Amino acid sequence: MRCPRCFYLQRTLKISPPSFPPLTLAIATDALLKNEFDAIRGTDEMHPLWVEHGLNVRAFEHPDIDKWRHNFTGMQTTHKSGVLIYGAVDDVWQDRDTGELIIVDYKSTSKQGDPSIDEGGWGDSYKRQMEIYQWLFRQAGHTVSNTGYFLYVNGLKDRVFYDRLEDGSIDGVMRFKTTMIAYEGNDDWVEGAVDRAVECFLGDQIPESGEGCELCTHMNKRMELMLDGLLRDT
Ligand code: SF4
Repeated sequence: MRCPRCFYLQRTLKISPPSFPPLTLAIATDALLKNEFDAIRGTDEMHPLWVEHGLNVRAFEHPDIDKWRHNFTGMQTTHKSGVLIYGAVDDVWQDRDTGELIIVDYKSTSKQGDPSIDEGGWGDSYKRQMEIYQWLFRQAGHTVSNTGYFLYVNGLKDRVFYDRLEDGSIDGVMRFKTTMIAYEGNDDWVEGAVDRAVECFLGDQIPESGEGCELCTHMNKRMELMLDGLLRDT
């Protein structure tokens, strides 16, 4: 959706973009949230967060839940071309009244005010991500609610860091405020986008790049300097 060229370079030609440091704090909050809901998965217990937000749900229990949450397996479907399409969810809840599955995506940030998915930035790609997961689960035959949830945790910066423990030691603590964002997904666009992505993936031409990408702008300017003989790459 963002850039056919980068998709083709990464997936067809296996040329990865420059790496950046892993988002280890976000990985940690994801793991803590996963532990939180795993602790009551398979029980009838209501999590206080669900009670607070008026949700009558449970953490969905399924033999493949860990596979669906694992980055390199995820929920999978095979396109008519034979290409494997997959995506890993953060969690799946289930409506206790209707039995519908509810896709849940954990997000973490540290910012002033409450996070939103409607104020530009990454919001549109978060919505697409949710709708692709909903589509993938429907492809696998599950009944999925259009309503998904972004469980956003926001690291607070307006307090001190250390807690004094009873044994006299100290423990660093970062507190997070939770914002639960309900999103009504519509996966109508996904099938067409997957068809276009597969066509791009199997094509024998490197496609056009997307617009406004800082990396390609940077690389093109470097290339112009090299062609002018002003920059020599070693
Ligand atoms: S425009 Fe950006 S996303 Fe597209 S090929 Fe260039 S670096 Fe990749």
